[in-house]
Amino acid sequence: MTRTPNLSHGRGYLAIPGPSVMPEAVLQAMHRPAPNIYAGELVDMMPGIMADLKRVARTKHYAAIYIGNGHAAWEAALSNVIAPGEHVLVPATGRFGHGFGDMATGIGAQVQILEFGKSSPMDLDVIAAALAADEDHKIKAVLAVHVDTSSSVLNDIKGVRGVLEATGHPALLMADCIASLGCDRFEMDDWGVDVMVTGCQKGLMVPPGCSFVFFNERAQKVREAMPRVSRYWDWIPRSTATEFWMYFNGTAPTHHLYGLRTALDMIHDEGIENVWARHGVLARAIWAACDAWGAGGDLRMNIADPSCRSTAVTSLRLNGNDGTRLRNWVEQELGLTLGIGLGMAEVGDPARDAFFRLGHMGHVNGQMIMGLLGSIQAGLSALGIAHGRGALDAAADVIAGGEADGLSAPSSDTVDAVMNDPTCCGHGQ
Ligand SMILES: *Cc1c(COP(=O)(O)O)cnc(C)c1O
Repeated sequence: MTRTPNLSHGRGYLAIPGPSVMPEAVLQAMHRPAPNIYAGELVDMMPGIMADLKRVARTKHYAAIYIGNGHAAWEAALSNVIAPGEHVLVPATGRFGHGFGDMATGIGAQVQILEFGKSSPMDLDVIAAALAADEDHKIKAVLAVHVDTSSSVLNDIKGVRGVLEATGHPALLMADCIASLGCDRFEMDDWGVDVMVTGCQKGLMVPPGCSFVFFNERAQKVREAMPRVSRYWDWIPRSTATEFWMYFNGTAPTHHLYGLRTALDMIHDEGIENVWARHGVLARAIWAACDAWGAGGDLRMNIADPSCRSTAVTSLRLNGNDGTRLRNWVEQELGLTLGIGLGMAEVGDPARDAFFRLGHMGHVNGQMIMGLLGSIQAGLSALGIAHGRGALDAAADVIAGGEADGLSAPSSDTVDAVMNDPTCCGHGQ
């Protein structure tokens, strides 16, 4: 099973769903002596960073930065709008909805979970029923995860806004875009999202350590009516900073800001629509390969309906412990690290070893994805895991603009048309 010679010497590829691959330019931007935090280049960079973050989030309203991970952004966002004893509704599609809800429990909220299982998107009718049943409008916010990174489901965030409108419910719509921002199409203002949280280490291509909360005027009014918000989480000084330290309530994450500046430049140079389109084509190449493998074996994508799949991450299952065997083989023999199955089976349950995930978020291109797929193909063969043939051809056809998945050339127009198709569950209907 181990092959000789070992083929892992060369540049490794971390294909897990965050932290994602860091661009050389981001690494180089961070490789510098400590900058002055009182005046000069770094201080002057801040207004542009805030404006460009909002451009990626597709909002013209407010943004606040926190030195912390995605969990910090969850707590920051909730702390500004939810007081102890208040109610939130959490439609959960995998693991991260439960995480967001658990953060709300931690700050004293009453959390109502709507469980949609591990392989399905949110059911808007069920959300509508829960909102309609809340006649006294006790629910203050709906906490909705755009892309659940464990199941790889893409949820219809605009649809949740539609349901809030249809039921005349005043709850805030809070979206977790930690996995999706800079990968899957997200339109904060157009979709009527009041609060959005994200991190820097997935689609934004910066090492873990910063996270962001975006919010609109409605959310700001709710914040202003809060009895108390702890100083550190308070988004008001951070979003209206008049001095550099106020953006961070203390010392700035100096090197992260240089990395972030470069990452934002890369995203805007490519164009956010093109970034989404690139993720779309690469994801469809992966799905075409997975379909082909699955036709002659037990490999299955966790989300059956392509219109409900994220283009940033793909959750897969094999049999027995084949998921773990495959991950170990491609890492040890080829230098490719795949993601563990997360949230699909409990820790300690042997069933966990059937699952694995592919991260394809951020700084990924065609040759990386073909290398990823070719490596998996080699692993399946080397380990004797049954699989269908033709996966690499199918993926290459998608990348070449062939008809493998029923779509024509991957021009951004075509992809935008697909992304705007009202039958696609995550894209706005
Ligand atoms: C990664 C992730 C989180 C958690 O972020 P951390 O930085 O690990 O705290 C939360 N939600 C989603 C959807 C994620 O992908």
